[in-house]
Amino acid sequence: MKKKTVKNIALFLILALSITFFSAVIPNKVQAEATQEQLDQLLQEIENNKDAAAAQEEIAAVLNNEMRRLDEQMAETQALIDDYNEQKDEAQARLDAAQLELDKATAERITYQQMLDERIAVMYMYGDMGYLEVLFGAENFSDFISRLFTIQSIMSYDNEIAAKLIETEKTIEAKKIEIETEYNKINSILENLKVQEANLAAQQEEKQDAIDLAMSNAVYYTALVEQQEKDALALRRELAQINGSGEYSNDFSYLIWPTPGYYGITDEFGYRWHPISGYWSMHYGTDIGASYGTPIIAPGNGKVILSSWYGGYGYCVVLDLGEDEYGNQWKMLFAHASRLNVSVGDIVQQGDILSYVGSTGNSTGPHLHVEVMINGVNKDPMDYLVR
Ligand SMILES: [Zn+2]
Repeated sequence: MKKKTVKNIALFLILALSITFFSAVIPNKVQAEATQEQLDQLLQEIENNKDAAAAQEEIAAVLNNEMRRLDEQMAETQALIDDYNEQKDEAQARLDAAQLELDKATAERITYQQMLDERIAVMYMYGDMGYLEVLFGAENFSDFISRLFTIQSIMSYDNEIAAKLIETEKTIEAKKIEIETEYNKINSILENLKVQEANLAAQQEEKQDAIDLAMSNAVYYTALVEQQEKDALALRRELAQINGSGEYSNDFSYLIWPTPGYYGITDEFGYRWHPISGYWSMHYGTDIGASYGTPIIAPGNGKVILSSWYGGYGYCVVLDLGEDEYGNQWKMLFAHASRLNVSVGDIVQQGDILSYVGSTGNSTGPHLHVEVMINGVNKDPMDYLVR
């Protein structure tokens, strides 16, 4: 019974150790797979969102073309409206003139009516008799002729004036109706143009709203892509950490300064008079003055490919920073250290301490000599390091 208990405890321990062992190994693999899956999914989303941003920009471009056509139509319509407004004003002026003429004719008619009243008053001088009675009332032939002549001239004068007046009023009235017809025609064209203008304005507004929407969508997708690309970079770094296999990546526009707090340049990249050899030669890096023992940190993520004494470079670290998005291979070299803090094969993260400032190798005092190599070609580190 006791023996069986011991056996059970042993079995339990083996099982527990096995679980501990596997849990130490398997989660890494599982986590790497999950992260990779997450990264792949994110990369697919980035592609989709880039397409979506491009599609929205395309929509906005098409709408902008339509908008230009609407603007042209609007300008044409407004020019026509101006033209017809001018014609309307002109017709209105003629209508006003015709009205004045008509008023004048009416005044003339009133004057005539007054004259007619006077003629009637003249007739009353002969009492309330009619023309015949006036004639038959003649006392003799001479008187008759005289009366007849008076009546005839009165009647002729009345008829003449009446005919003239009717003619004038008819003419003016006809002219006025003609102008009114013209005016109404212009006005109806103008009303149609105004409806057209309002319709175009509504279309412009609608189009502008659609353009604004497409543009804001494009901006949204672009911002999303920007954020997702950052997330993807973080996932790549995470993956590199889990794998520890040198699959690290960097934001090469953000390589940090290797000696924080020390920014003085004692010797620039390029051809210069060598202080030790005493002749003109190429200086393949930048010398940063820093006090002895200052930590030299990794400007980016990478793999240590050299960490040892390296001839004139003294104690030296070379970091492989991997590939940028264009397929360029990046390496950095840190020379003259007093002490090394990493070993070949180490995966380091941006900010990790690589070594400490010293003056080993060909050096006249404590400083960091830092080099940037892109595809094996030395570049000016000042173009890439962010202070
Ligand atoms: Zn140097």
